[in-house]
Amino acid sequence: MDGSAWDIKSMTLEELKDMLTEEGEKPFRASQIYDWMHKKLAEDYGQMTNLSAALREKLAEKHPLTALKPVDMQQSGIDGTRKFLFALPDGNMVESVWMKYKHGNSVCISSQVGCRMGCRFCASTLDGWERNLLPSEMLDQIYAITRITGERVSNVVVMGTGEPLDNYDNLLRFIRLLTDENGLHISQRNVTVSTCGLVPQMKRLADEHLAITLALSLHASSDEKRRELMPVALKWRLDELMEACAYYFEQTGRRMTFEYALVGGVNDTLEDAQALSALARPLSAHINLIPVNPIKERDYRQSERAQIEAFKGRLERNGINVTVRREMGRDIDGACGQLRRRHLEK
Ligand code: SAH
Repeated sequence: MDGSAWDIKSMTLEELKDMLTEEGEKPFRASQIYDWMHKKLAEDYGQMTNLSAALREKLAEKHPLTALKPVDMQQSGIDGTRKFLFALPDGNMVESVWMKYKHGNSVCISSQVGCRMGCRFCASTLDGWERNLLPSEMLDQIYAITRITGERVSNVVVMGTGEPLDNYDNLLRFIRLLTDENGLHISQRNVTVSTCGLVPQMKRLADEHLAITLALSLHASSDEKRRELMPVALKWRLDELMEACAYYFEQTGRRMTFEYALVGGVNDTLEDAQALSALARPLSAHINLIPVNPIKERDYRQSERAQIEAFKGRLERNGINVTVRREMGRDIDGACGQLRRRHLEK
């Protein structure tokens, strides 16, 4: 397996069976342990009361369970959105967000500690990349939030800190465990993965034929403007990126979402909207407009309300399916990576 051999929470039920058999245990123990980890959301072996004390001790020694410690929580007074800061055992910290919607609770998780993509408007990348998260550490964010809130999570978006397709193998394993019928059994249709556009990995993901939604952080409709905002655009041109999107749609039958952060005076003209329509139309892509969340390290500002409406209107007249993202938790450190950064600065 990828990840680490000790990391029992990142193993599939089959792998767990094989490992326990090899270690001289009965295979049915695997189902019990898997159930404790992924359904009952046990935090430590002490809770696994149907295992012998000797086995619990042995497991704790050879296979310590990954665990997240909540270190901070902010709750929005406007919409109840909660932002969590968790500490990992190695001292690193990750952010996750819990959002309550009419159709169910949604959790936004991080996929890496830091990020190396360097998008100009994003706070998560300012300190660079530290390490990848294990599949178990991505699951742990959802498990911890479920325990803390006492409410079921029905939607998961991989849109927190990090570039999920830059941690491909762990991401795939995470999705398989999250949607496994022996675990939380979240529907693949309720999982969204957001990428800044790593072309080879997008194609690879298409070949997995999952029913998840792939969101592309597009943010510009010309190579020139995209390169100003996102260094990843220096690596792949828009035509290569759109070809990967077409392949994804073709292989999976899943419409893509294009995320487009509106930055005042940078990418919010009607010509931009026109060019964006031309990119989205052949793919029947859904466009999600996000008024950019200003970070103090950069001087990007949000587009005026009227400009946002005009931009949206133009897309609609072009027959494009578009929504303006509701800004959840505006009153808490909203933008990706802001809560973690505030703690790093301390
Ligand atoms: N690396 C992935 C996922 C993490 S970022 C990606 O690029 O998609 C999640 C989304 O938030 C992306 O669309 C990203 O471009 C956007 N984002 C980051 N900082 C932002 C900000 N300050 N304002 C608005 N959107 C932002």
